[in-house]
Amino acid sequence: MKKVLILTLVATLGMSALALAGGGGGDKLHWGYAGETGPEHWGSLAPEFKMCGEGKKQSPINITGAVKGDLPELIFDYDDSDLQLVNNGHTIKAAYSSGSSINVGGDRYQLLQFHFHSKSENAIEGELFPMEAHLVHANAAGELAVVGVMFKEGEANPLLERLWRYTPSKANSTMSAPGSIEVADLLPKSPAYYAFTGSLTTPPCTEGVRWMVLKQPVTVSKEQIAKFRRFFDDHDTNRPVQALNGRTVYK
Ligand SMILES: [Zn+2]
Repeated sequence: MKKVLILTLVATLGMSALALAGGGGGDKLHWGYAGETGPEHWGSLAPEFKMCGEGKKQSPINITGAVKGDLPELIFDYDDSDLQLVNNGHTIKAAYSSGSSINVGGDRYQLLQFHFHSKSENAIEGELFPMEAHLVHANAAGELAVVGVMFKEGEANPLLERLWRYTPSKANSTMSAPGSIEVADLLPKSPAYYAFTGSLTTPPCTEGVRWMVLKQPVTVSKEQIAKFRRFFDDHDTNRPVQALNGRTVYK
């Protein structure tokens, strides 16, 4: 197991980003995916959620009309991690050990955590997928980069099999499971991606997030989708797509 020493600064900023992304932000304030605390009300639930209603560069989006952008290669420099799972009532999140990162055209971002949504949040040409994983990274300045991986129904995913087995079914609980995991097991063969700027997809919907959605989906079985959804009483855990407001999507 290779472990890379990272700066305390990165770890510190990483922790705050970790708290923000993937449903961690605003845990003290109640929000949800339906009804009076649903996505269309997030912006008025609390002053700190204002961007959810007023932001002009919000995520997720419908990826369409992408233009050729001469995008830098997305290089995954991922190592293994201890297995630590959180059910925060909004998503299932795996906190990732330090020492894994991506490199995009010389910009390096450390992997903090990954989590899931069902249905997918981003759409591709108007199509939602049954699930989407978000791999949340931060650079030394605390700026976030999220890699989105789409899941289509097909063969079971071995990593999800292990994750769901150890996931606590009760909301707001954490489980440290035996063994280690490799997040690379969630990636498709091709690193080709769509790029755009956006936000966190959960309150406080903070903007300035660098989004990269992989073009090639991976598979998940029907049973695995159903099992994820059962953690949330079969409710959707995806924010609806947001207006592009003049943003360009690159491919
Ligand atoms: Zn997410």
